[in-house]
Amino acid sequence: MYKKIAIFQIDGWQAKYMTDKIKEIGLDLDLFKGGVDVEDIKNPESYSAISVFVGPKVDKSVIDKFPNLKLITTRSTGFDHIDIEYAGSMGIKLGYVPHYGENTVAEFAFGLILTLSRKLYLGIKRIKEDREFYFDGLEGVDLKGKTLGVVGTGRIGAHLIKIAKGFDMDVIGYDAYPNKKLSEKLGFEYVELDELLADSDFISLHVPYLPSTHHLINKNNINNIKKGAYLINTSRGPVIETEALVLALDKKILAGAGLDVLEEENIEKDEMGYWLRDVDDNSEDINLRVLLENNLMMNMPNVVITPHNAFNTKEAKTRILNTDIDNIKSFFSGGSVEFEILQK
Ligand code: NAD
Repeated sequence: MYKKIAIFQIDGWQAKYMTDKIKEIGLDLDLFKGGVDVEDIKNPESYSAISVFVGPKVDKSVIDKFPNLKLITTRSTGFDHIDIEYAGSMGIKLGYVPHYGENTVAEFAFGLILTLSRKLYLGIKRIKEDREFYFDGLEGVDLKGKTLGVVGTGRIGAHLIKIAKGFDMDVIGYDAYPNKKLSEKLGFEYVELDELLADSDFISLHVPYLPSTHHLINKNNINNIKKGAYLINTSRGPVIETEALVLALDKKILAGAGLDVLEEENIEKDEMGYWLRDVDDNSEDINLRVLLENNLMMNMPNVVITPHNAFNTKEAKTRILNTDIDNIKSFFSGGSVEFEILQK
């Protein structure tokens, strides 16, 4: 078997780190700054493994580019960008990073809560862009005594609950698989989703993107949300039906939203200032309606959008790279990789 790996979406210190570690385990490698979907790959047949990151889809057309592919690793927790079934049918193993520090994303989600509750972005913008020093219109709300509804009480959700408890918030949770021990340990109650939406002042989403979580927040249940609540999403964009979100903001059901993820993320700005998908992207699943809705939200002062950045700390990235290297090492030494379980 060829022992060469192509690593995509990597540069800077991470490129050097991966080069050193991959060479230590006796593999050859090529590094690409761009995604597997855009890079001009000279000898695709020479790679038996690819390592990717979130964003570009690793679908059938991408997988078919590599005739000798035996392993795909993704340097992420989410894996909805990879066609797992097709890879499985081709006998390709998959490695992912099941966790790399739940604190990293939870800290960011709580940052979005504070940004919204205290109108931090508007205050900062007033000074930096307008050079105005007054606080009119920047009245916020306390978090103490408010209710945080955590949807998905896995690793990240649980850590967020701990942070919220430190702020004296009340917490309720919703999960397809409630964890009784966790609720006792951290002191929160599980409720049904509709009850959580009705009772929470802040709702934070921490479920994976699966068929069962597609549009978990949607036009049918958005009206159940407590009037004046804030919605935070650091999970995956399509967990929220964007149209429902825009409606809820428009009707002032939601006082604001903090979004690190969007239903359409591969976007570029055109000369008119509109946000559009890259013109080179020929994929058929471009959802123009969602792009326009995203554009509407970008202009709303009570919506804070960040570019899928919640994972992005030096510590987290080092842990991600280490797990990716372990997955690659394990595969090439005949051991199992973390992802295998998902292909049963
Ligand atoms: P996790 O697997 O530990 O927890 C997910 C929880 O969701 C589990 O408790 C599970 O039971 C629950 N769940 C699954 N399906 C459900 C459903 N249909 N309804 C209700 N609950 C359901 O995952 P995690 O480590 O906490 O990560 C959560 C997600 O956060 C990831 O899947 C990923 O998509 C996202 N994430 C985003 C970033 C970012 O940078 N924005 C970084 C890391 C992870």
